[in-house]
Amino acid sequence: MNPTGTDRSPTASWLATWRCLLKTAGGHAAALRNSLLGLLAAAIAQGLALACLFPLFRAVLSTGNAEAALYWLAIMSLLAIAATLLRWRAQGFEYNGQLAAMTHALRTRLGEQLRRMPLERLQDSRTGEMSAVLLGNVDENLNYTLAIANLIMLAVVTPLTVALAALFVDWRLGVMLLLIFPVILPLYGWRRPAMRRGMRQLNQAHRRTSADIVEYLQGLPVLRAACSEGAKAAALHASFQHLETVQTETRRQAAKPDVVVASVVELGLFGVAACGITWVVMGTLDIASLAATLVIIVRFSEPLATFVSYTMMLEMIEAALERIETLLAVAPLPQQTPAALPDTFDIRFEDVSFRYTQAGAPALAGFSAMFPACSMTALVGPSGAGKTTVTRLLMRYADPQQGRITLGGTDLRQIPSEALNGLMSVVFQDVYLFDDSVLANIRMARPEASEDEVRAAAKTAQCLAFIERLPQGWHTRLGEIGDRLSGGERQRISIARALLKNAPIVILDEPTAALDAENELAVQHAIDALVRNRTVIVIAHRLSTIVGADRILVVEDGQLIEQGQHDELLVKAGRYRTLWDAQQTASMRFL
Ligand code: ADP
Repeated sequence: MNPTGTDRSPTASWLATWRCLLKTAGGHAAALRNSLLGLLAAAIAQGLALACLFPLFRAVLSTGNAEAALYWLAIMSLLAIAATLLRWRAQGFEYNGQLAAMTHALRTRLGEQLRRMPLERLQDSRTGEMSAVLLGNVDENLNYTLAIANLIMLAVVTPLTVALAALFVDWRLGVMLLLIFPVILPLYGWRRPAMRRGMRQLNQAHRRTSADIVEYLQGLPVLRAACSEGAKAAALHASFQHLETVQTETRRQAAKPDVVVASVVELGLFGVAACGITWVVMGTLDIASLAATLVIIVRFSEPLATFVSYTMMLEMIEAALERIETLLAVAPLPQQTPAALPDTFDIRFEDVSFRYTQAGAPALAGFSAMFPACSMTALVGPSGAGKTTVTRLLMRYADPQQGRITLGGTDLRQIPSEALNGLMSVVFQDVYLFDDSVLANIRMARPEASEDEVRAAAKTAQCLAFIERLPQGWHTRLGEIGDRLSGGERQRISIARALLKNAPIVILDEPTAALDAENELAVQHAIDALVRNRTVIVIAHRLSTIVGADRILVVEDGQLIEQGQHDELLVKAGRYRTLWDAQQTASMRFL
């Protein structure tokens, strides 16, 4: 989306931003609107209070009328107090926690959107970039809104009110003051495209650097082990340098117009003062009006000159709104009606073709296969053959462009996503542990599980011995010591999760590939307990781990090229046989 087309006039663009802001404010939109209206009223009241200087000065300097002076002083004070109270009330939106509640609500909405978004879209975005949107953009978008609105109103609405009031004092003064505003707007319009570009580039650079930092931190242990943190540190440094370049360029682009606008405003105000003095000398303007005008000019020169700089913050808000709207606009995968829940769990891929959004060639091309219920089917084949894609599509990472996948005869697209997630447990090679206790890390698979159930799952997954050795046992936080767990121990926690979840379908993605022999044995025992009486799909590189599988599917170039049991496939002397022989020779050489 583009809430503020580049070609629109500044006011149309502000209105578009305003509408977009109200949309993102959700349930807090009315309060935000009232708060901004309050700020507007405060700015007008302040302008009127300043306009009282004209009659006040006239009463004091020209006529010496004490009663009139007191009268105007009282009016001026009342207006100033009203302005302060209105502003106070309007800013209450910020101080009494509504602004924080609004940012919280928006972040929650974005969080929910992340849950609903197709996983493919989510994986296309880098983690750090998402964090930059959810944290940085949300805060930029909303937290500064009131402060910026207040500054802009003080720089635009208040002087405009005074200028309009000046028309009634001396039309020439009023017209001179009013002239300064039409001059400012085209100047702002002239500056805007460059500012917009700059802010978007800056926003993009921030997101990129944020993603680079997150990835660097996540990869640091592996990089250190491989003694190659230097290479990545250089990449991170390059990202910092890019950010610096963008920042410098944004400042450089902003500098010249800033100076020009500030000078035009200063000269304009100086022009008003010069005309006023001339008119006094010529005897066509009273000295009191001139004195009031000079006070007003001094009061406004600063906010008017810096007005265009504040609008830079508006550009930042617009850029943030764009990112937020783009994220909110991603539609979830469609749910076909009528919704249905399967009661048997055999899986069928019927002529499935799928291409990743970012990829040139399809990952699966006319793939048809059957995974019978309550049996173990292994997917084998060279790297890049499409094995992971098969399991991803089954989890509805994305929908295939052609063909269909059924579960117990029900099209996957008819099964509500929550229900589908509940039907599958996945054990990956890399296990993600959350910064929480061991107990909570296992229980997350089924939050309502009792402690006894969690312990029973951990026992079956062969976790008890190592959990009891941890410093605080079951209550040890894994965020602090996660790295001290071995690959096999992490793997067994993940199997305990799957056991606790008790889902009818289990996907194993090379779970023992990176383990040493001792750990592999323990994990294998845990897996044996997990796969009993379930529909199991296992992706395996090492064919020795799947010789006992009920069925083996050989995948190559996104197609099923062979299938059968281990012995049958060996006899057939096809692709499986070649892969098997190659692995046997390699392991013999290794021994
Ligand atoms: P396997 O699990 O057999 O190694 P994959 O299913 O991971 O193979 O990959 C199949 C093909 O799809 C490969 O060519 C791979 O490069 C491509 N691929 C995998 N994931 C993505 C992705 N997220 N975006 C684009 N292409 C991808």
